[in-house]
Amino acid sequence: MTTSSPAVRKDVVIVGGGPAGMAAAWQLRDRDIVLLEQNDVLGGRTKSHSRGDYWLNLGAHLFPAAGAHVRNLMADLGLETVEVPGSKTAVSFEGPRGRKVYDARRIESYPFTLPLSAADRAQLVRAGLTVRLKVRSYLAASRPQPGETAAQRRDRMARFDGDRTFEALLGRLPPSVDAIFRTATRRVPAEMDELSAAAGISIFAGNWAGRASGSPVNLMGGSGRLGEAVHGRLGERVVLGAQVSSIEPDGDGAVVRLTTAEGRSTIAARHVIVATPAPVARSLVADLAPEVDKALGSVAYEPFVSMAVLTRETGPMPWDDIYAILTPDLSFNMLFNHANPLRGTSARANGGSLMCYAGARLAREVIGLPDAEIERRFRQDLGRVYPQLADLVTEAVVQKWEHGNWFQTPGSDLDALLRYREQPANVVHFAGDYLAAVSGSVEEATTAGVETAHAVAAALTRC
Ligand SMILES: Cc1cc2nc3c(=O)[nH]c(=O)nc-3n(C[C@H](O)[C@H](O)[C@H](O)COP(=O)(O)OP(=O)(O)OC[C@H]3O[C@@H](n4cnc5c(N)ncnc54)[C@H](O)[C@@H]3O)c2cc1C
Repeated sequence: MTTSSPAVRKDVVIVGGGPAGMAAAWQLRDRDIVLLEQNDVLGGRTKSHSRGDYWLNLGAHLFPAAGAHVRNLMADLGLETVEVPGSKTAVSFEGPRGRKVYDARRIESYPFTLPLSAADRAQLVRAGLTVRLKVRSYLAASRPQPGETAAQRRDRMARFDGDRTFEALLGRLPPSVDAIFRTATRRVPAEMDELSAAAGISIFAGNWAGRASGSPVNLMGGSGRLGEAVHGRLGERVVLGAQVSSIEPDGDGAVVRLTTAEGRSTIAARHVIVATPAPVARSLVADLAPEVDKALGSVAYEPFVSMAVLTRETGPMPWDDIYAILTPDLSFNMLFNHANPLRGTSARANGGSLMCYAGARLAREVIGLPDAEIERRFRQDLGRVYPQLADLVTEAVVQKWEHGNWFQTPGSDLDALLRYREQPANVVHFAGDYLAAVSGSVEEATTAGVETAHAVAAALTRC
């Protein structure tokens, strides 16, 4: 075992190379840092593989409008973003005459276009109105108040209808309407009776957020470009294939134990930023205060299982103008067209790239199966959404995400963790998507990484 001497300890060791860890490392790049990532690439849950002009996307893909922390990081790295012109609100729905893709850009019109009975139609109108009204107050509450800090705003939003489930907000629904909302919350990924009403509402808020919030974008070439660019710029300060096994506070610093291809080693650091999902962070850090341990233990994640496919069509396809399709009653709950941002700017190139994913219960049902069986089930259902797809797939890649995403559950309480983060004497710091108010995202993770880096930089300057 090699052991670095405390006398040559690093300023900062960052554990985990997802958006939170990458953002923290980038902010602290002028310090003596090392970023440790267990996988053979940076990126965490932002992952894609290049395929000529296309890319196979397996994780996060939609990023917020300009001004967001992650967009600033992309701009610093010279990465190109691309608008997503296609519909993000299409639904593949099974009616009496079979399954069909409905593509209403205004989701309010679905009660009048989906093939539902009169009674179910009325229930969809009722539930839709409940959501619409709640989104309005959610968006009003989301506006920063004068003089409010980011932490205070997060705290306020975490209390916005966080004590009941989304299912309780909607009330009893007939099966056909229940299936629509249930499929939508699996996007988080959560079941309707697991996530808070606020987290459920946040899924729909984007539809009515208005022009001010701007349109979401994709990263040209795939989300994996983010990790590649950070690695390229940080160079040897990134160690891939480095599995951290413990982080032990040690006087005025901490000792990080890890295993790489060369064997086991330790690194001494003045500060450690733990940028892994909460359950991993909890298992790595020794001597956690009981209330912090309890708060980390209350963080709920559900899995995602995704499959990206490359297709070989030689002409226009019915999905060309669509980006996202909700798919009730199938083995996956969402289908995305990752070639959509490339359509419309020049002649349509042959081929394409799609991704589907199963979230929450749908993911739990398949995550233990071999990839080949998952591929078989998902491909069968791709053919139910668009029969043309049965003969077009040339490559399929399955990805299992045990910690798919974080979401707020009724009564979940991160107060102790948030108070801990504000203590200036800390040497072990936490960053990750779970520090959001209601659910995780790349932007929330990046924000946590940036905020934590600023706190660490201030502490390094003080001593
Ligand atoms: C299928 C899917 C689709 C999504 N879509 C979107 C989307 O469109 N838009 C959006 O904003 N968000 C989306 N998300 C959520 C988003 O990806 C996450 O919120 C974000 O990646 C969280 O970043 P993070 O840095 O907190 O954690 P992660 O991205 O999970 O990064 C943590 C890193 O820590 C590493 N690590 C863990 N344990 C160790 C260890 N012991 N030693 C060393 N390294 C370790 C992991 O390998 C990983 O690289 C999606 C997620 C999934 C799975």
